[in-house]
Amino acid sequence: MTVQCNKCGEYFTVLREGIMVLQDDGYDVTYFVCPHCKEKYLICIFDKKMHELLERRRQLEQILRIARAKKFRAEAIRRYVKEYEKVKADQKALADELKPIGEEIVKRSGKGEDEDGKEHNSDQSG
Ligand SMILES: [Zn+2]
Repeated sequence: MTVQCNKCGEYFTVLREGIMVLQDDGYDVTYFVCPHCKEKYLICIFDKKMHELLERRRQLEQILRIARAKKFRAEAIRRYVKEYEKVKADQKALADELKPIGEEIVKRSGKGEDEDGKEHNSDQSG
């Protein structure tokens, strides 16, 4: 996927290697970095609840596939569809909630990178 950086205006291709995942405070944050100016862009953020919703959504998709193939009663299918729609809506609401948190984490992760340097291995034991 080719994107234009909002900050420096350069176009670049986001490669799989360029996609980073960091874990912070129970969140899994996926982002990519502009190779020109190092601006970070949030792709998605997951917390425990989001993982659960995703898992449930996958289950329901599978159930629905089977339910339709095996011609379950319409009423039963409707119930699953209803739950599926609810999970989808919950996911969207949660994603909106998590987005600013993710952006904050991504922003924070870049700070002090130059001054503090990366964590270096100490020879001291303990
Ligand atoms: Zn840039």
